Amino acid sequence: TDNSERHRICREDIVVGRILGEGFFGEVHDGIYKSPTGERISVAIKTCKDCSADVKEKFLSEAGLMKDLDHPHIVRLIGVIEVDPVWIVMELYEHGELGNYLVQQQYTLTIATLILYCLQICKALAYLEGLNMVHRDIAVRNVLVASPKCVKLGDFGLSRYVDEHEYYKASVSRLPIKWMAPESINFRRFTTASDVWMFGVCVWETFSMAQQPFFWLENGQVINQLESGVRLPKPQLCPPAIYSLLTRCWAYEPNVRPSFSQLVCSLRYTHYCTRVFLSS
Ligand code: ATP
Repeated sequence: TDNSERHRICREDIVVGRILGEGFFGEVHDGIYKSPTGERISVAIKTCKDCSADVKEKFLSEAGLMKDLDHPHIVRLIGVIEVDPVWIVMELYEHGELGNYLVQQQYTLTIATLILYCLQICKALAYLEGLNMVHRDIAVRNVLVASPKCVKLGDFGLSRYVDEHEYYKASVSRLPIKWMAPESINFRRFTTASDVWMFGVCVWETFSMAQQPFFWLENGQVINQLESGVRLPKPQLCPPAIYSLLTRCWAYEPNVRPSFSQLVCSLRYTHYCTRVFLSS
């Protein structure tokens, strides 16, 4: 069976629970899905309040991309219900968004755990890099916490496949300026290299316990600062070795930035050293 076959599920097999939050297209609920093998799986159900054909298509495009993805640190799609009311059903991650989790757990999380989260997000992005997929919205609000030692990259609502040496030219204006690379702000140019920049900002958020990047600036001031060489400062908790990686992710020239597979190697080594020498 092909992927669309495998992800077709029956509404009768789902029990909808309480509201988890508000998504862009509609409410997100938790629930239980009874799989064909009889297994009961906790799920998150994304709904779409506007059921016009073009909105529905945009809503379902995220699930379309997620169908092909299979990685331990990427949110897992369970299935899609393509008849009204359309639903996207995903595995549930009880601890919610990483951003909120960092705030709640700020006094208990160790540096080694923070590096582990960054390494896991980086592995997910190295996997996407191999598929020529750009994510375009890498931020702690789009990472979910599955367990205290496991995070999953989610929110593929802005993701696109790009051919090698090509890029995705965005048309939408709902863009996260403070996370974006200069070429994305200036020319709406999105590539794996611009994802690397955003990943750097996401690592900065992680070590800042989810402070907003450039909270001291207006969106309109960010590009001028970046072009005059200003970068986000080292968060107090961020090890210098990691901050030095971040400054490389924030090279003005996209082709000078490291790849995700290189970043995985560096972060893996830093994580190892932190565990050995700080035994935290
Ligand atoms: P936006 O584009 O504004 O971020 P969205 O349409 O992508 O919205 P999400 O952010 O993915 O919607 O979901 C809305 C809320 O539902 C989030 O706050 C998140 O906490 C929760 N949520 C979504 N998916 C899951 C999941 N798999 N497990 C647990 N919680 C989830």
